[in-house]
Amino acid sequence: MKILVTGGTGYIGSHACVELLTAGHAVVIVDNLSNSSPRVLERIAQITGRQPAFHELDVRDRAALDRIFDAGKFDAIIHFAGVKAVAESVADPLKYYSNNVYGSLTLFEAAARHDVTRVVFSSSATVYGETARSPIREDAATAPANPYGRTKLIVEQQLGDLCAAGSEWRVAALRYFNPVGAHPSGIIGEAPQGVPNNLMPYVCQVAAGRLSELSVFGHDYPTPDGTAIRDYIHVVDLARGHLKALEYLERTRGMHVINLGTGRGTSVLDMLGTFERVNALRIPHRFTARRPGDTTETYADAARAAQFLGWRTELTLADMCRDAWRWQQANPAGYV
Ligand code: NAD
Ligand code: UDP
Repeated sequence: MKILVTGGTGYIGSHACVELLTAGHAVVIVDNLSNSSPRVLERIAQITGRQPAFHELDVRDRAALDRIFDAGKFDAIIHFAGVKAVAESVADPLKYYSNNVYGSLTLFEAAARHDVTRVVFSSSATVYGETARSPIREDAATAPANPYGRTKLIVEQQLGDLCAAGSEWRVAALRYFNPVGAHPSGIIGEAPQGVPNNLMPYVCQVAAGRLSELSVFGHDYPTPDGTAIRDYIHVVDLARGHLKALEYLERTRGMHVINLGTGRGTSVLDMLGTFERVNALRIPHRFTARRPGDTTETYADAARAAQFLGWRTELTLADMCRDAWRWQQANPAGYV
């Protein structure tokens, strides 16, 4: 297949491109490079032996998108492009509505004009909101607690309405839980700008000595060790889920909302302990107050992905910790 990958130079998109190219698909990446480096392209080529086509553009640019679609027919789109920082979305909601909602609308309009009606969309477990009970099934109520989550839900609804219009649309909205880790080669990985907000990149930077210690946010949660529980998923497993979704859309029409998670909960201390053990390191840490807005426990019911896509995660928490650290060590300052 020939796949248009928006946001393909980003963290998850780059891993998906590696899997797509390895499986023999043709890949065209579009990205405005607002949160990624063009060096990712050489790295993808280093792993796969194939360089994906790349166009620097913003998905809100209708004319630029038309030029890409006019240049050759795509079989499907994987739409990763977007902005993703929850706190920033509270401070600057228009940035989120513009990039994520308007950007998606512009992309889907261009796709419709060119009869490309197969879409895999990066959604998020944030659409479930804070009160959902884990394991969270896809039919749980949606109640996003911040503008970022609302933009993801609005795009899901756009896509659902397109499918309901009785057209040819075939859509998988994949609700990711907590993607972590890096390609096992250590050649591509997550390169956050500034001080990381998320647990795994923060732990890696403490391990590297770039940050002095980890603050564990909350030690009084009603969990076995008092720290909060999440569903961490290896980014390579996640990337492979997108290939499975593309295959699924070959056989099925309409809108499909599917969780991508392991179905297992891991506490902050479980993560820390595993990272220390597999990498033979100590991570200085101390317990601090809970982070506002954090849930106690969020993990997926992963049954639908298994049933619909025939997809299950294969990589372990130990793999996630080992691969994240390998990438960090080989690329201490990211893609420079
Ligand atoms: P990322 O920032 O590494 O990748 C996103 C890419 O999109 C970047 O390369 C960025 O430059 C590009 N981009 C942003 N706005 C754009 C625009 N208007 N036009 C063109 N390109 C644009 O993020 P990621 O972690 O790889 O996330 C990919 C997708 O998955 C996002 O939609 C994100 O919301 C979603 N998601 C991520 C997580 C996570 O924890 N990483 C969890 C759930 C969902
Ligand atoms: N966390 C932490 N210290 C940090 C960053 C995160 O204790 O420096 C905790 C956070 O409170 C949450 C878990 O690690 O319980 C995962 O946080 P992350 O931001 O990675 O994901 P999210 O909360 O968005 O699921």
